[in-house]
Amino acid sequence: MNSIALRPPQRFLMGPGPGPVAPSVLEAQAAPTIGHLDPEFIELMDTLQGQLRQVFRTENAFTMAFSSPATAAMEACIVNVLEPGDRALICINGVFGMRLAEMARRCGAEVDTLSFDWGRAVDPEQVARHLHDHAPYKLVAWVQAETSTGALSDSRRLAELTREAGALSLVDAVTAIAGVPLEVDAWGLDMVYAGSQKCLSAPPGLAPLTVSARALEACRNRKTPVQSWFMDFSLLGGYWGGEQRRAYHHTAPVNALYGLHEALRLVLDEGLEARWARHQRIAGLLADGLEAMDINIVPPVAERLPPLTTLSIPDGVDDAALRRWLLDTHSLEIGAGLGALAGKAWRIGLMGHGCTEAAVQRVLGALEEGLKKTVGAAA
Ligand SMILES: *Cc1c(COP(=O)(O)O)cnc(C)c1O
Repeated sequence: MNSIALRPPQRFLMGPGPGPVAPSVLEAQAAPTIGHLDPEFIELMDTLQGQLRQVFRTENAFTMAFSSPATAAMEACIVNVLEPGDRALICINGVFGMRLAEMARRCGAEVDTLSFDWGRAVDPEQVARHLHDHAPYKLVAWVQAETSTGALSDSRRLAELTREAGALSLVDAVTAIAGVPLEVDAWGLDMVYAGSQKCLSAPPGLAPLTVSARALEACRNRKTPVQSWFMDFSLLGGYWGGEQRRAYHHTAPVNALYGLHEALRLVLDEGLEARWARHQRIAGLLADGLEAMDINIVPPVAERLPPLTTLSIPDGVDDAALRRWLLDTHSLEIGAGLGALAGKAWRIGLMGHGCTEAAVQRVLGALEEGLKKTVGAAA
């Protein structure tokens, strides 16, 4: 067994992530590994920081690719900013908001949550009322692009309300980055993390992260040290920049960062506005196709997230059996519903390199065929 090399199948990744990776990104990752303190690599880290600032639309000095899945960058933000007794407001409209709240509780913070229906955006009016009645908070957090439900929330407005209430903002931009408008500086977002594997179209395992000077100041003014050594921003900052530049902290995933560099190059080559517009246009084609098949899309039009479309499973269809059929016959992966939408919805991703008209035709054709054959139909 040990002598058999791995041969993963070629899939069409149209679920909630990872999305498909551009061939040039995979090629970039296959370049020779060099030392993480090699002058060439240090130059690459500088270049990456510049690329990430452009994609985040920020001047934040503290901007990096965290060596971790996005969930660990989420946790890093929480553990750096929150101390026992700090008050945090977490907006929950899906799985990832719940995860944020649980992490905040584990820091010993006093956590208030505001919940919204699954498939709906965070409602800024409710947030405004809540802040009016219950502020002050140290932190307000939300998920801009809820991949678990396909809802897009208004980070610009939520950031404004957060600032007015004197709190710091924490935004999950994992599926938002390079897929929908995201303006870290113009909107005044304080802590924003993302992931490599959604609309950036790099493999999973890296988390772009940016933190404002204001938020870093709040982290510096903690009374207690950050409980996590690895995630401590003051140490991480010394690896990616700052005064003790490139002080050894951990060994950066050298080849994964080659891939991210190429992925960001492709994003900036296309242009952010063009990329946002492409996601909007292609998702519109998918929505039209689904509606022509009488399939209902869960979020209302104004709250839909172009990179991820959540649709109701038609009556009488066996959820797991049809998804398995798509994978076996068409090598096509779509996502199951989660939480309140489990068994009731499917999630179709159109992310970055995978957001094309051809992908829309492929998934619509396969779904139509699958539903017609009544594969797995209960009746
Ligand atoms: C995918 C995703 C995450 C988690 O990313 P991992 O890399 O799996 O840790 C977090 N938030 C959102 C909105 C996501 O879509």
